[in-house]
Amino acid sequence: MHRDAVAQSVSSDEPPARSRLNSLKEFSPAGRGFWRDVPDAEWNDWHWQLKHRITTLEQLQRLMPTLTPEEIGGARFANHKLALAITPYFFNLIDPADENCPIRRQMIPRIEETHTAVWEMSDPCGEDSHSPVPGLVHRYPDRVLFLVTDRCAAYCRYCTRSRLVSNATGYDFHPEFDKQIAYIEQHPEVRDVLLSGGDPLLFSDDKLRHLLERLRAIKHVEFLRIGTRIPIFLPQRITPELCAMLKEFHPLFISIHTNHPRELTTEVGAALERLADAGIPLGNQSVLLKHVNDDVTTMQALVQKLLLCRVKPYYLYQCDLITGSAHLRASVKTGLEIMEHLRGHTTGYGVPTYVIDAPGGGGKVPVSPEYVLSRNRDRVVLRNYEGKVFEYIEGATDAPAYKISENFDKPPVKLVEPDWERF
Ligand SMILES: *Cc1c(COP(=O)(O)O)cnc(C)c1O
Repeated sequence: MHRDAVAQSVSSDEPPARSRLNSLKEFSPAGRGFWRDVPDAEWNDWHWQLKHRITTLEQLQRLMPTLTPEEIGGARFANHKLALAITPYFFNLIDPADENCPIRRQMIPRIEETHTAVWEMSDPCGEDSHSPVPGLVHRYPDRVLFLVTDRCAAYCRYCTRSRLVSNATGYDFHPEFDKQIAYIEQHPEVRDVLLSGGDPLLFSDDKLRHLLERLRAIKHVEFLRIGTRIPIFLPQRITPELCAMLKEFHPLFISIHTNHPRELTTEVGAALERLADAGIPLGNQSVLLKHVNDDVTTMQALVQKLLLCRVKPYYLYQCDLITGSAHLRASVKTGLEIMEHLRGHTTGYGVPTYVIDAPGGGGKVPVSPEYVLSRNRDRVVLRNYEGKVFEYIEGATDAPAYKISENFDKPPVKLVEPDWERF
């Protein structure tokens, strides 16, 4: 695809794929849209943004007369499955003229959400069966997932935890921090606690600080991290005060969730800068989604733009088999093609690990294009990102293959130390 685009443009200065890549990487503000008369102090107040979320079909219709019948049907049904909620800030990123707008696809319910295949599940990663106490998932030996709330600033239509998030299906989610913390205290093998939900950054600074203090008080907990989409949905929440508070709990990492380079606005860029300046290592988790990011140029722009924001693309997830998500799931074939076009073609720091969270509860399994063509006891045959083939010889123990290297026959070289004061 990229090659065709280059071939078509031999006469122009810049190939279209490259100019599209560059324009996707530009930072622009989300704008005020419908809310242009709202005073700055309110618009920039995260509580104002939460209070003014778009949550009903009527609001959607008023703000976006271009709503399609599929979207109207989806919005009618949404509150029975996963609530509709979009912050005004994030709503302004939607292109009302484009039914396939990548932001719109992620946020506006569609009637296809009511279609269910037999292989789709309400708990596709088998979290409930790995939960020793409510709100805690202990699947891997040394770390736990600690769900702190069932609320988010906005709801992603493909949410893997839509069974509990937003409380639309009546899932009785009442985590008790005392019980979750007691479990961690009683399990010295747990050295890594991942706070998620719902979105932990919806808590007030004080409430979050209190929770982090209790976790930091446990000797064997070495490492804390927070999974959040708030920097993307609600960059106003990333206040200097929040950053100063989080800084006290290092080592603390944050994983954000963004899928399309357009989500990285000027406002988000500034919020991520505040987090990075607080010394918080940042990673990103993306979900591979149809009409959103299932093409090479979009994904390349996304990972490169994340690096500009000091965010390491951490995981690219194959979309879980969550009920009613078929219209959003891209194929594994597409995912592998995207990975093929990232590795070697762009900065290694920009290449995420592509994973499938094994249906039923097997945990994350990496999937990768094949670079090892064959392997036996003595040698590994590899191909590189360009398809060239190379051989790596393993030191076979019983092969008398060694001789003295030529340099060792020569007289020793006298090394001169530099003057380190003037180096
Ligand atoms: C993803 C996940 C983790 C964290 O996995 P890492 O590979 O360490 O990032 C921990 N617990 C559960 C249940 C998870 O789904």
